[in-house]
Amino acid sequence: MTYDVIILGAGASGMMCAAQLNEKSDMSVLVVEGNERAGKKLKISGGGKCNITNVNVSANNYLGDEQLIESVFAQFSKDDLLSWLERKGLEPVIRKEQYYFCPKSSDEIITILMRASQKSHYLYDTKIVSLKKEEHNGGISDIFVLQTDKGDYKAKKVVIATGAKSFASVGASDIGVRLAEELGHSSKAFMPALAGLTLQPQAFWMKALSGISFFAQISVEGKLLKEDMLLTHRGLSGPVVLSASLYWTKGDIEIDFFPKQNIREVVHNNRKLLSTAIALPKRFTQALLAVVNINDKPCTSYKEEELTQLEDAFHHYKLSPAGTYGFAQAEVCKGGVETDSINSWTLESNMVEDLYFAGEVLDVTGELGGYNFQWAFSSAVVVANNIVEK
Ligand SMILES: Cc1cc2nc3c(=O)[nH]c(=O)nc-3n(C[C@H](O)[C@H](O)[C@H](O)COP(=O)(O)OP(=O)(O)OC[C@H]3O[C@@H](n4cnc5c(N)ncnc54)[C@H](O)[C@@H]3O)c2cc1C
Repeated sequence: MTYDVIILGAGASGMMCAAQLNEKSDMSVLVVEGNERAGKKLKISGGGKCNITNVNVSANNYLGDEQLIESVFAQFSKDDLLSWLERKGLEPVIRKEQYYFCPKSSDEIITILMRASQKSHYLYDTKIVSLKKEEHNGGISDIFVLQTDKGDYKAKKVVIATGAKSFASVGASDIGVRLAEELGHSSKAFMPALAGLTLQPQAFWMKALSGISFFAQISVEGKLLKEDMLLTHRGLSGPVVLSASLYWTKGDIEIDFFPKQNIREVVHNNRKLLSTAIALPKRFTQALLAVVNINDKPCTSYKEEELTQLEDAFHHYKLSPAGTYGFAQAEVCKGGVETDSINSWTLESNMVEDLYFAGEVLDVTGELGGYNFQWAFSSAVVVANNIVEK
């Protein structure tokens, strides 16, 4: 049998693409998945509650081709996603005033996606090996042949939705990029992103403060990010650091450990010790003061020169990370199939007709906060709509 569409990967984008094709057409759809079930990353995401999307979503929250990202969100926005989920009976809850989560468990969204795509045939425990167009009478036909470890499957159209290679423990691989390259596409090497940052020896003092967490701001590559930071025995983690790792490649990042108020205002007319006066964990303040050679003393006793040093230490701390925690712990990968050879409206390959891409396999990566599922879902809907319309 030749399927109308084969979707490679039953992750967030693969399931959404299947659901949309089933809702909008009678096309025969096969979804091929290496795991024994669908949506394993969805399942573990957001601490088991899946951070589906964010109150504010724009191309500004992503690394990738701005015009292509905007074109995808213009066709299926965050509000469209929320309305679709609501129609299926899921009303995500907002946490910390910006993150949309499943109310109880990520199983809720997985169940919705599976139910909406039940007309598709899911093939599990099946590893994708290669993809090519069928040879016919000495030439190339329009039909794709997908080679798997369980046999070959044919389709008129193929959607590569195999994600990226971080968290291999849940079946992730770089197969999508390899298939695309074999078909003539270029790609940017996958790199860990939304991962903790490791430290160089100058900053090892922070390791001794493992477990301490506070609100901070990081400037990296022209981006200003604010959220909680966590000090760990390996280095820096927490939401603001994970998002910073998306933009960091090498060199310095600048940390504002106390973005809520200037340190000059904290010390003004205050007779308490600085470590008591400032609303930061006391052990952290004491350690930072020791590192920059400033005494912890009553705030009113700091001289002008020391105040300038304090400003530098607390608001403009320069840190050069050694690296990231690596692929095994990165929530996503930056890099992937380059988008300049992809139609930015349809997400169809400009090189191979009827070949489409959705989700993290493309060179589009979001910050922490639901942006990557929003991208996976929006790109999947765009692909499905354009397949149906074509
Ligand atoms: C721990 C963790 C927590 C996360 N939390 C969030 C969050 O809360 N919010 C958010 O927005 N993002 C989160 N993410 C990121 C998000 O999970 C991904 O960006 C998203 O799943 C990408 O969707 P996708 O469909 O492109 O790929 P995936 O969901 O990874 O799906 C790809 C599918 O392809 C399959 N596959 C891969 N290789 C093969 C092969 N060779 N043969 C057969 N099948 C194959 C995989 O098994 C997988 O099922 C998290 C990631 C991790 C690891």
